[in-house]
Amino acid sequence: MTMRAPPPHAERLDHFMARANTRYYANTPLLSDFITAPEISQVFGELLGAWAAMVWQGMGSPASFILAEAGPGRGTLMADALRLITRACPAMAQAVQVHLVETSPLMRAEQAKALRASLTTPPHWHDRLETLPDGPLILLANEFLDALPIRQFVHTPDGWNERYVADERFYLAPCPAPVLPDARPLEPDTLVELCEPALAIAAWLGQRLARAPGAALFIDYGHASTLTGDSLQALRHARPAAPLEAAGQADLTAHVDFTAFGAAARQAGACVYGTLTQGAFLRRLGLMERTAQLAAAAPEQAQALLSGAERLAAPEKMGHLFRVMALLSPGLPAPPGFEEGLPT
Ligand code: SAH
Repeated sequence: MTMRAPPPHAERLDHFMARANTRYYANTPLLSDFITAPEISQVFGELLGAWAAMVWQGMGSPASFILAEAGPGRGTLMADALRLITRACPAMAQAVQVHLVETSPLMRAEQAKALRASLTTPPHWHDRLETLPDGPLILLANEFLDALPIRQFVHTPDGWNERYVADERFYLAPCPAPVLPDARPLEPDTLVELCEPALAIAAWLGQRLARAPGAALFIDYGHASTLTGDSLQALRHARPAAPLEAAGQADLTAHVDFTAFGAAARQAGACVYGTLTQGAFLRRLGLMERTAQLAAAAPEQAQALLSGAERLAAPEKMGHLFRVMALLSPGLPAPPGFEEGLPT
């Protein structure tokens, strides 16, 4: 690891990542470089719709509520969820107001297209979660937190340093020790990641859920333990790429630190459930049963449906890598999939 001091034009890593990803998502059609769960099987969005319906009932079936999604990509998850809600729970479909948190104009256009058939009025878009209107809330977010910019801190024999970027390489500048919301011991000679926008979202949601009824579901690849280490990665043309090269042409992500995220939400007042693995969560919600039902109705698609379900749930595929965390207002029943665990 280089120990050279950053030149004057160097950027802090999170500033570099924010700039690169803003450019990437504004210019690259989704799926050019990676495929996400809702694009693998329609059952993913349907199960999240069923999850939302049960949570809505647990909230006392409010006559009007906000169904929000953060980082909706092509709008597939929301379209699949709304189709299920309309069919299985018409009273909920009457009560729903759809709000999408999305910064990329390109993605917003895709989402408008995907949802045209599902909604009589267009959804409301926001640049940030914090501008969602007040009221009962159910928030869904798949592969959203991993795109938010991180800072990286490196411990060396001389103390803590922060990573900066210039000319496609890292530099280190001395800094105070990083502070994470969970009181984890920071071992010497480690690299620690801090995703400030994710922690700000957790704190904002925690306060909101303590004040008004609601729930939020986050699905992302990340670690449940307090492991440290460098998880910054780039995908370009579906292949791993060097994260600092060709900024804006590759998708930059980092593993979600669910321990820190959950601690920040809990401190602000939310009940925190999970994490569970994606595989366990989807199976408990009925992934295999719903897939078999669809396959029986459309035998020509049976193979694709079964292999999609397998890809989402199998431990060696996405089933273990991806994890699920739910945040709920205190006093609400445990959300579907998490009934066995007590909230923390
Ligand atoms: N949830 C979708 C897409 C995941 S890709 C799916 O599962 O297919 C990440 C999404 O988050 C994209 O829609 C991207 O434009 C959006 N995004 C990235 N950074 C964002 C930010 N800071 N604020 C809002 N949306 C963001």
